[in-house]
Amino acid sequence: MNIHEYQAKALLKGYGAPVAEGVAILKADEAEAAAKSLPGPLYVVKSQIHAGGRGKGKFKELGPDAKGGVRLAFSIDEAKAHAKEMLGNTLVTAQTGEAGKQVNRLYIEDGADIARELYCSLLVDRSVGRVAFVVSTEGGMDIEAVAHDTPEKIQTIAIDPEAGVTAADIAAISKALELDGAAGEDAKSLFPLLYKAFNEKDMALLEINPLIVMKDGHLRVLDAKMSFDGNALFRHDDVKALRDETEEDAKEIEASKWDLAYVALDGNIGCMVNGAGLAMATMDIIKLYGKEPANFCDVGGGAGKEKVAAAFKIITADPKVEGILVNIFGGIMRCDVIAEGVVAAVQEVGLKVPLVVRLEGTNVELGKKILNESGLAITAADDLDDAAKKIVAAIEA
Ligand code: GDP
Ligand code: MG
Repeated sequence: MNIHEYQAKALLKGYGAPVAEGVAILKADEAEAAAKSLPGPLYVVKSQIHAGGRGKGKFKELGPDAKGGVRLAFSIDEAKAHAKEMLGNTLVTAQTGEAGKQVNRLYIEDGADIARELYCSLLVDRSVGRVAFVVSTEGGMDIEAVAHDTPEKIQTIAIDPEAGVTAADIAAISKALELDGAAGEDAKSLFPLLYKAFNEKDMALLEINPLIVMKDGHLRVLDAKMSFDGNALFRHDDVKALRDETEEDAKEIEASKWDLAYVALDGNIGCMVNGAGLAMATMDIIKLYGKEPANFCDVGGGAGKEKVAAAFKIITADPKVEGILVNIFGGIMRCDVIAEGVVAAVQEVGLKVPLVVRLEGTNVELGKKILNESGLAITAADDLDDAAKKIVAAIEA
């Protein structure tokens, strides 16, 4: 789960990180009061969307010459004008895809005088089984290009979970970032607190790009992207409360309500499966026969009829779906339950595209009987290969 920059900064501030004062607003007429509450004279008006690259992004409605999604303002009036122009419009960045994202919130922040822009992120480095800092002196809006062209300018410092962030770690990170003086002193508290926040809140990623050295020599967190491990959200009600569903795919929200794993992809065959391994195999075999999956929805083990029906509805709601492949191995999951769920969903929402069902395992005969006697246009398949061939043939017909 992702949260907005302003929420991430508030969270980090709670741990003692140096962040600027700022106010989040939803309406343009709140901009004046927001800016007035800040010290000035420099303000930054920042689009709050769940995507990066906002500074270099472009508003669809405003044309190529308009300013981007992160704007400096040198007076309260200018901040107001930016807010009016930005709110409600669609920002397209390197991370949003062509459709862009509507900007429904802005963060108006006290502007900083920047001396250097650095890169600092924390992530779970699976190759060493540790949380690691990934840092570079080349922070700012072109970190992707740095990673691509000059990867040697990015350094990884993994943290021993028993020792935590040691003085030696701080020294190594500071050296990599060429921090000295006041920034070097700030580093001694900043890096341990980032690590603490990352662990305590079960983050999957914390990216600060840029972390800046200001003209007065101190460090400040200028941008913050935070993702949380969905499997740990149950123990962080405070984090869950930060969820902004308007930023998420409606089908993924519906899926999460039913505790279904739904992943949207680019092709045109919708897949209902149980278990991640079967999902991968199903997608591989679809590709083998020349097509691409539109999505997959993993109903897991032990789902009831209602949950299966919900999964089916989520899959059919995707306009890209030209055919559906249900591929279930009934172990804990019973084939008759799957069949009942599919039949119930089809009766409710109708069936506008070909449907191929391959069932195997517990109660398979009963499952097949339910499908056959449903009177619905369902194509039965015997095995994985047969199922993939049949669905590919059906959408090509
Ligand atoms: P992103 O483009 O989505 O990554 O948004 P950022 O929050 O990283 O902002 C983009 C860029 O705007 C930064 O790299 C800075 O160069 C600039 N910027 C953001 N805040 C300030 C500020 O307070 N002062 C100045 N001078 N520049 C800022
Ligand atoms: Mg940034």
